[in-house]
Amino acid sequence: MELKYTSKINKIRTFALSLVFIGIIIMYLGLYFKASFTVMTIFMLIGFLATLSSAAVYIWIGMLSTKAVQVECPNCQKVTKVLGRVDACMFCKQPLTMDPSLDGVEFDDKYNRRNQKEQ
Ligand SMILES: [Zn+2]
Repeated sequence: MELKYTSKINKIRTFALSLVFIGIIIMYLGLYFKASFTVMTIFMLIGFLATLSSAAVYIWIGMLSTKAVQVECPNCQKVTKVLGRVDACMFCKQPLTMDPSLDGVEFDDKYNRRNQKEQ
């Protein structure tokens, strides 16, 4: 099975985690510019902000998780969270839909985008 689809919550979580690493890398790079206090401070500040924003993203995931619908995945029988009209299982990446009219329709993120415009 193609692992093309990732659960939205997992995607955001990966994004938050990479922000932490990017922040640490930027702060680490700043150490190479010890000669210039200004440049080092800018690097440290950007790195710190990246790390800080990852914390904000984690809070956002927490809020999204409370809005997500818990369903039992028909494929792996684990309880997963569905965000929006279509999402993928967090464990086996099985495409899932909350909309019966989309049942059996090939998974496409555009259904979510259309949904967002309606709101
Ligand atoms: Zn599953």
